[in-house]
Amino acid sequence: MCSQKFLSEIKRLPCVICGNSPVEVAQSNQVDLLKESSAKASDFFTIPLCRNHHIEYDQFQKMNRSQSVEWFNQMLEKTELMLFLKNQADVF
Ligand SMILES: [Zn+2]
Repeated sequence: MCSQKFLSEIKRLPCVICGNSPVEVAQSNQVDLLKESSAKASDFFTIPLCRNHHIEYDQFQKMNRSQSVEWFNQMLEKTELMLFLKNQADVF
């Protein structure tokens, strides 16, 4: 899947925390580490967040940086599951 298609799929999902929409695409704070390998790879380290949760995440309102990285990885797994289930539903 190309990164543009992936990003548009992410935008169609509800917020990974509260289930609200519309969402914004939130990028991992680890992206600095990824830049060396490929800028495009970072597009795949994204999750759907509503405006409020995006701000909360970007500003580290509830977590420090290392907690936030761990949390993001958990949310990334959940996002992948949501994408998978959505694609499954499209089959029927
Ligand atoms: Zn939310």
